[in-house]
Order: sequence, then structure tokens, then C-alpha cells
Amino acid sequence: MFYPSLLWQMPEGNKRLYLTFDDGPNPEVTPVVLDLLKSYSAHATFFCVGDNVRKYPETYKQVLSHGHLTGNHSYNHLNGWKTSLNTYYENVVSTKQYIDSEWFRPPYGRITPSQIQALKKEFKIVMWSVLSYDFDAETSQEQCINNVVSNLNDGAIIVFHDSRKAVKNMLPALEATLKEGIARGFSFERLDK
Ligand SMILES: [Zn+2]
Repeated sequence: MFYPSLLWQMPEGNKRLYLTFDDGPNPEVTPVVLDLLKSYSAHATFFCVGDNVRKYPETYKQVLSHGHLTGNHSYNHLNGWKTSLNTYYENVVSTKQYIDSEWFRPPYGRITPSQIQALKKEFKIVMWSVLSYDFDAETSQEQCINNVVSNLNDGAIIVFHDSRKAVKNMLPALEATLKEGIARGFSFERLDK
């Protein structure tokens, strides 16, 4: 499904790339990402799962203290296509107690038109233009790097995952993206900058 009313890509013309990290925070993986971003003076947006923020509040605070933007990714990674409007809405809005942000990314990118209508009054709903497939066990490190590096277009919104499942592919692909992006004159920014 394609929804033109959602945010899929940022404007061109600023030589900027927008890294996003979904499904964290994770106390083993997220700090490694933070150090890597810092070493390239890169900023990013972290779409966090509310239940992970509840479990790992210190890791969440680290993300904020490094100057990154956080967004809401529901309380427990709900699939919008399998969830009623009211349940979905309540789940996302109640997650504000853990994640104070007007940015929301639907887990799996699966959201219904009525869920969009309800949530867009309170959130900027963000999809993506580049998927790394870092979470996919059948994607090799090399392929994952290529998925991103061959798609570094001005204004691209790139999806990685700061999760244990994705870390093996994510770290080399993130480093390659940072190196290549900077070599091509891009800066890496938060979605609100
Ligand atoms: Zn997710």
C-alpha cells in the first residue's frame, strides 16, 4: 500500500541524508550505534518501542543526550493491519508517557487509512525511502551495504534497526553509509532539522 499523505522522503537540495533506527533502545546495540554516529558527527532519529524504553530507560536517555531525535514506534510493535482502530490509537498515544515525541513510524509500515486519520492529528507519520533489510537473515552483509549505499539520494530516509537481530548486518552497513555519504558531501541529520 502506498500513502502519499505520509512522509516518505525529505526535500532535495540540502545535501542531507536521514538515518532512522527502529525497534530500540537495546542496551547492547544502541550504545555502539551512538558511538559510531558520534565518530562521524552524524545525527539520526530513533523510532523506539515503548516497552523497550520502559525496560531500558538509561539507554533511552543516552540516545537523547547524544542529541538525536526520538520517535514513537508503538508500545509493543503492533501490526496496524491486525489491530482495531481504538486499540491501535490507544497503544500509540499511551506510549507518549515513555516517548515524548510528535514523530511516529508504524511498525512494519502497516497502518490503515482510519488509523492514519486518527493519528495524524497528533503525530507526523514517517515511512522511508531506503530499506537496508538489515533484519533479514537471508540478506548478506555485502548486500545490506549495497541496499543502502547504492541509494544515497538527497533527502533519503534510511531505515536501520538497533536490535540484536539486525546488528550483524546493520553495523557494517551503517559504517559504509556514513563513510560514503560524507565522501559524497552529505550531512546526516535528524528528521526535524
Ligand atoms: Zn519496527
